[in-house]
Amino acid sequence: MTASHGTGRITVRCACGWEWAGDVESVVAATQEHGRRTHNMESTRDQVLAMARPVDDVGESREPEPPTAG
Ligand SMILES: [Zn+2]
Repeated sequence: MTASHGTGRITVRCACGWEWAGDVESVVAATQEHGRRTHNMESTRDQVLAMARPVDDVGESREPEPPTAG
């Protein structure tokens, strides 16, 4: 398998307020499952990814930005 874009985490928020965050595979799976169970709707991986947004590691320890060396 080839991972074309990053290993970053994404988050999806449904119109009903349901939210899920994680890596791409788990978010796609969870969102498809949610759509099926809650809205009786099938969503494709592309549709899920279209409404997903990248998660910036908020809340986790971040490295301070290095001083700009120019
Ligand atoms: Zn929903």
